[in-house]
Amino acid sequence: MINNIGLFWVKDDFRLKNNLALIKASNKHDQVVAFYLYKKKKFENQEAQKWWVSKSLQNFKSSLNNYNIDLEIIKTETYSSFFEKLFTKKNFSIYWNKTYEPSYLKFDKYLSKNFKLHNIEYKILKGNILNEIEDIKKGDGYPFKVFTPYWRNAEKFYLEKIPAKEKKVKKSKKKISYFKDTINENEIYPKKKWFKKFEEYWKPSEENALKELKSFIKNKIENYSDARNFPNVIGTSKLSPYIKHGQIHVETIWQECMKVKKKGVNKFLTEIGWREFNHTLINNFPHMLKGNYSKKFDRFPWEKNTKYLSAWKKGLTGYPIVDAGMRELYSTGWMHNRVRMIVGSFLVKHLLINWTEGEKHFKNCLLDYNEANNVSGWQWVAGCGADAAPYFRIFNPILQGEKFDKEGNYVKKWVPELKNIPKKFLHKPWELKNDKVLKLGSDYPEPIVVHEKARLKALNAFKKI
Ligand SMILES: Cc1cc2nc3c(=O)[nH]c(=O)nc-3n(C[C@H](O)[C@H](O)[C@H](O)COP(=O)(O)OP(=O)(O)OC[C@H]3O[C@@H](n4cnc5c(N)ncnc54)[C@H](O)[C@@H]3O)c2cc1C
Repeated sequence: MINNIGLFWVKDDFRLKNNLALIKASNKHDQVVAFYLYKKKKFENQEAQKWWVSKSLQNFKSSLNNYNIDLEIIKTETYSSFFEKLFTKKNFSIYWNKTYEPSYLKFDKYLSKNFKLHNIEYKILKGNILNEIEDIKKGDGYPFKVFTPYWRNAEKFYLEKIPAKEKKVKKSKKKISYFKDTINENEIYPKKKWFKKFEEYWKPSEENALKELKSFIKNKIENYSDARNFPNVIGTSKLSPYIKHGQIHVETIWQECMKVKKKGVNKFLTEIGWREFNHTLINNFPHMLKGNYSKKFDRFPWEKNTKYLSAWKKGLTGYPIVDAGMRELYSTGWMHNRVRMIVGSFLVKHLLINWTEGEKHFKNCLLDYNEANNVSGWQWVAGCGADAAPYFRIFNPILQGEKFDKEGNYVKKWVPELKNIPKKFLHKPWELKNDKVLKLGSDYPEPIVVHEKARLKALNAFKKI
């Protein structure tokens, strides 16, 4: 046991279980202080996440309190300005988990260099991932660009490692505070009150993440492979915001899944595999964070149309499944994966708007926003990603709606102005032609583009690259 103070830098790891940095700090030091750096700029275009982070801080603070560990929130302009001051103090050792984004991993190098220079003990531990990025490579040493062979290798690599028996967080001898000028988590709340609605749907705590995981494995995983495609059925785990903010570690998910021999487990873990794959992509090919992975898309004739973009954002395109998805996103901070693909395809292919606009909007509204999954998801949809859907495969929003929301319950939930129209017309209300039931253009918009025309226009645009 070392007498100095153990500092634990909390990033996206609001959990006690499988939190290597916290476990290490608490087992090595009598006194531990956790701190969170609130960099306002980071959240400038991530409004929804401010709510999740603020709630998570509140809940994590009370969990840590049981271990005599204070969680202090510090507002800072930049991470480096905070650490430059910290380098001048000497009475601590510091621990944090990796965040698998190029900017964070680069910053880790800067911190390593400076902590070494100042003779301060520090440890950087494995973050919320199954395999370290550099561990999974092709036989020739290059990174994978295609998911299936990537996951075959990554899964095998993970299984061959014998997971070390997990240590637990140790209670500090007494609770102390370390930093001056700390702020309260309420300062992080978004200004717009639209987050109030999120409170109906989510409880951002580790306890709840574990509860949701167990309930999903008990009641839903068996049917996951089929049910995951239908947005009106809650057939997926809805764990994404908890995973993003580290309320649950993917190893915990893996271990809990391995305890049951149920159909659906493999498919579910394959989706976790997509998250792993996306993290390797953005780290091995960081140019994709600034634009198209596939450079030929730099010549794509995108159109700038603020009217269309605004209709898409508001869920007023006249295509019910698209509008339902966009409204679900705005109301709950989450959208079903099938619908993310449909609304994404609609923006990029029907409206010919650059995928980066969609990426920005999702970033602002999603509670599960993460750089790797969002950028890769959008480039998958747009056809310019590493292992992407081909551009010429254009989702038909009417057929997608009829196939995946057959009874129209999803549409009726999120687009209530359509709730009285016959099932036959739910995904193409313009064919109803009955003003008494629905006045198109005033009760609900006319379609902003005609599907078939838009499809042909997109295919022609694609020919140009
Ligand atoms: C355009 C677009 C943008 C997206 N943006 C994000 C994002 O910002 N953050 C995010 O976490 N996911 C994103 N996804 C992936 C996916 O839609 C969500 O992870 C999923 O809908 C979350 O719901 P769930 O937790 O119920 O998933 P489940 O089906 O229960 O899957 C379990 C976990 O596996 C991972 N996962 C599932 N599907 C995918 C996928 N297709 N790609 C990568 N990981 C996956 C997630 O961590 C998820 O929580 C995006 C997909 C698209 C098409």
